[in-house]
Amino acid sequence: MAEIGEDEGSLITVVVDLNPSPYLIKDGECIMPRCLDAVAAFCNAHMMLSPLNKIAVIGCHTKQSCFLFPTPTSSEAEDFRPADGQYELFADIKNSILKNTKKLVFQNSDTDVYTESLIAGAMTMALCYIHRVQKQQIVETKIPSRILVITASGDSASQYMNFMNVFFTSQKEGVLIDACVVEKDSGLLQQGCDITGGMYLKVQNISALLQYLLWIFLPGTEIRKQMILPPRVHVDYRAACFCHRNLIEIGYVCSVCLSIFCTFSPICSTCQTAFKLGPLPNIIGKKKRKQVPLRN
Ligand SMILES: [Zn+2]
Ligand SMILES: [Zn+2]
Repeated sequence: MAEIGEDEGSLITVVVDLNPSPYLIKDGECIMPRCLDAVAAFCNAHMMLSPLNKIAVIGCHTKQSCFLFPTPTSSEAEDFRPADGQYELFADIKNSILKNTKKLVFQNSDTDVYTESLIAGAMTMALCYIHRVQKQQIVETKIPSRILVITASGDSASQYMNFMNVFFTSQKEGVLIDACVVEKDSGLLQQGCDITGGMYLKVQNISALLQYLLWIFLPGTEIRKQMILPPRVHVDYRAACFCHRNLIEIGYVCSVCLSIFCTFSPICSTCQTAFKLGPLPNIIGKKKRKQVPLRN
């Protein structure tokens, strides 16, 4: 009988969106600290499952992304002592997450509050980290890795290309992308989870974040097959046009570089190819003006 479990351990890289969103304010109070506590508890739970497990946490904001854990300084002797009886690693994870979050939020506090978070950039950092850990491994088999994105920012179509690059790299590297979004759906993350075979979940009640994390995102791929998880959502497969970054269902595609445009343009703005053919007859326009003959 095949054994269930990941004896070789697994690596989870958590990408936390620290951009304050109106969904993170409940009863006039920002619940971000509680969410960070949930993330720290989730990380500790993962580390408890196997001594071979690894964890990394990346925070992303509007201007920059940085590692919350592990950090180059976290190994240095600091003036910090865990509470009596607490496992040092758990205390280190939580302390490091909170300390570096404060630093990151402070550095980004002068920008407009509701600009887009650099989630795609943070995911790229996660992929690089995963690649490094896999390279450093002594054993032949690659450590199973996944990226968990926790965000309340919704869609950010301006980073469409960056997202797509991350998704296809993850798919090629066999890295699963999980997404836990708060109240606002993200079509792009839905696509990423679908492409890589990860779980996408929209959390309705942020107070129960830890329960969702432990139930759905803690088990690895093998255990997930045995579990009854929420059904897959209908994936929003719209693409963003390269001209306005709007999400569109039907558009024009350059036959040379596959750039997507919402309106016809005689020259592709990406690869400068000039198209000899004119635009297709506008069917909707034709229906409205039935008597107008076609010129060509
Ligand atoms: Zn457009
Ligand atoms: Zn082109």
